[in-house]
Amino acid sequence: MICCPGGDFCALANAKSIPIAEAIQRKFSNHEDLKDIGPLTVNISGCMNACGHHHVGNIGILGVDKKGDEFYQVSLGGSAENHTTLGSIIGPSFAQEEIPGVLEKVIAVYRDQRNDNERFLDTFHRIGMGPFKEKVYAKAD
Ligand code: SF4
Repeated sequence: MICCPGGDFCALANAKSIPIAEAIQRKFSNHEDLKDIGPLTVNISGCMNACGHHHVGNIGILGVDKKGDEFYQVSLGGSAENHTTLGSIIGPSFAQEEIPGVLEKVIAVYRDQRNDNERFLDTFHRIGMGPFKEKVYAKAD
């Protein structure tokens, strides 16, 4: 995970980044789980200046200002590898407290749909945004 200093330290920020990174870290703290998830980059920027390179994160998180409130836009499928790819925005942005749960759902789709030893990025390119979007925005029962 890469995270810019965000609103805690940067005057240009639209939103905080560090608390988002901390919340994600807390959510995914189990070593065996992380080993099972495998290679997956998460990049967080507090504004469009993109110091956290959110646009090339497998999962990218960008802080945005919505009428004075901090929200976060999530993109999937970015890559800074040889075949560089910009992530695609999954849909409407989320409140800070929603982000760990959003990542949990995205990763659940990956684990459910992946082929043997397939990385997150490769699964994303094979199945596309649809299944991720469906799961993340599904209404709670
Ligand atoms: S991305 Fe924006 S908030 Fe983050 S360090 Fe760069 S300028 Fe500051």
